[in-house]
Amino acid sequence: MFYIQGFIRLSTLVLLLMSPLLNAQEAAPARYETMVETLLRDSIARETAHGLGQVPAYAKFLQTQFLTAGFDAQDVTIIPYEGTASLLVRYRGDGSSNRRPILFSSHMDVVPADPNDWVRNPFELQEDETFYFGRGVLDNKFDVSVLTTLFIWLKEDGYVPNRDLVIAFTGDEESFQETVQQLTRDHREAIDAEFAFVVDGGGGVLNDAGEAIQYKVGFAEKTYATFAVTARNPGGHSSMPRSDNAIFDLSDALKRLQDFRFPVETNEITLTFFERTAPLVGGEVGEAMARLVSDPSDAEAIEVLRQKPEYVGTLGTTCIPTMLAGGHAENALPQSATATVNCRIFPGNAVTDVMGTLQLAVENPELDWSIVGMPVSSDASPFNNEVMAAVKTSLEPLYPGIPVIPQMSSGTTDGAFFRAAGIPSYSLTGIFINPRDSFAHGLNERVPKNSLPQSLIFWRSMVEELAGPSAITAP
Ligand SMILES: [Zn+2]
Repeated sequence: MFYIQGFIRLSTLVLLLMSPLLNAQEAAPARYETMVETLLRDSIARETAHGLGQVPAYAKFLQTQFLTAGFDAQDVTIIPYEGTASLLVRYRGDGSSNRRPILFSSHMDVVPADPNDWVRNPFELQEDETFYFGRGVLDNKFDVSVLTTLFIWLKEDGYVPNRDLVIAFTGDEESFQETVQQLTRDHREAIDAEFAFVVDGGGGVLNDAGEAIQYKVGFAEKTYATFAVTARNPGGHSSMPRSDNAIFDLSDALKRLQDFRFPVETNEITLTFFERTAPLVGGEVGEAMARLVSDPSDAEAIEVLRQKPEYVGTLGTTCIPTMLAGGHAENALPQSATATVNCRIFPGNAVTDVMGTLQLAVENPELDWSIVGMPVSSDASPFNNEVMAAVKTSLEPLYPGIPVIPQMSSGTTDGAFFRAAGIPSYSLTGIFINPRDSFAHGLNERVPKNSLPQSLIFWRSMVEELAGPSAITAP
């Protein structure tokens, strides 16, 4: 197993033991590895999907873990919100760095799971040789369990950071993301931070041989926005048809959308992503990435990358129809037809501008357009060399030399709201997984068991890199 190879290489261990300046641990004490697993088991047993009202009890359970470990009651607070809740935990530092806190965020809720569809019971932690299974095991209860254990481990070690560390566990990331908005709106002081780690996304990539090939840090997220476009018509009897027809009008608009492309956009994050990914991918696609980096207007390179669903989203804004509704009776001319168009908007573009561009593209000013819900746009987080260096240092004893690649995600996490509130956010995790095994939101969700010990070491090192080393007690 690659993990063993990378992890207890003798030379690495010797180096760690010999250097008083290196704070990386060779392993977390077994007690804390067990603690993560026990917490994960308790966490998976709680069905915390939207609408079931189980998040507050889960928050209470986690709160108890912190209190039992000696955290002050005033530093471990549950913030209720309409049937769900957030949990905030403040690990007080001595303030000697004069720097604002670091925020660690994960979410306690999960996507619903129907046990009838699963091979294993989704609400019971199950395992085989390689994986843990269960709803939320990857998204996001593993990281909730790791962060909880990390704080308890640091506390029990008597660790005093040089700045405050703050955990924010949110309660509805998978549905309306209102708990994170409540935090940024009503509890800004309590979550204020120089930057946030959104421990939900990013992380290590394994290839089919189980080798760690790269590590991703999310710096930006595209804005998720949905538009409803409606064609209207007076309608009439279908026995007396006319050429003007709401369904035809909508179809014409959608055909134009099919041929429309938003212009290619790049930023520091995406250019660095393509630059560092090119040699890892190789071949025609790798070459196209390299050419795009040297000339973002290279039409041939753009065409190659646009054919790849995994990269097209990194090139700019994308919009695609996802749902249709129209007509009201078999024997009536339709009075309306509506398409739902879902967009992933490149950072820096306003939602209304994107809608305006689509309106022009479909060449029919008669159509009605509206924005569905309340999309939140956020700019990319600034490139942070200190964070990137800490990630590199923390990965070194686990996977020496692994490429660290900044990423812009096409999905939306709570990080978008922290960014929008002025807190730069970086998505990363101690999990290493083959994308093939990533069943987040899907059936038989799983997380590699190797991720458990390495996550503790990784995060302990991250804390010590960014909030000061532990006092060295023994050589
Ligand atoms: Zn998540």
